Amino acid sequence: MRSGSAFRVDSPPANALVEPELAGELRRLLERFAIEAGASQARPVGLFFKPGIFGHHQVGRAADIYAINGLGLDQWKLRWDEAMRRAAMAATPLERRLIAEKEEKENLGWRLYKALQRYGQWAQPYGYPVQLFGPWTRTEGPWKQISDFLLRAHRDHIHVAK
Ligand SMILES: [Zn+2]
Repeated sequence: MRSGSAFRVDSPPANALVEPELAGELRRLLERFAIEAGASQARPVGLFFKPGIFGHHQVGRAADIYAINGLGLDQWKLRWDEAMRRAAMAATPLERRLIAEKEEKENLGWRLYKALQRYGQWAQPYGYPVQLFGPWTRTEGPWKQISDFLLRAHRDHIHVAK
């Protein structure tokens, strides 16, 4: 994966060596995510990939994203959980909604996950769940029945395959 016009790949190119089909799909989605999040050519959003080992990774059909603007996906998720705890304890429904809306706007980890979920066409091998996993999979889907084992394995990154 190479940098786009509104996103910048911070990791070495060898961390995300992928097939042209996956590269094209990712590029389209990362641009859309970045622009919707307010990034631009002058102020791109930074993404960090790490190489994966198993399954689709072996044939260049998967990519793992570990950090956005220098903050790990596990940190974005921690931040998200804290905001949702604050929202749950808010004194009024209005306050609760405002806290949640603010976090949905500012949390780039959640935003990236939702963009990949909403706009992406990911592999779903016969008998297997759709190939989008990350810290938000159990609460946001698309495969809410994700096992504890698989959820733990994706607590610090987002995995996509095509
Ligand atoms: Zn992976």
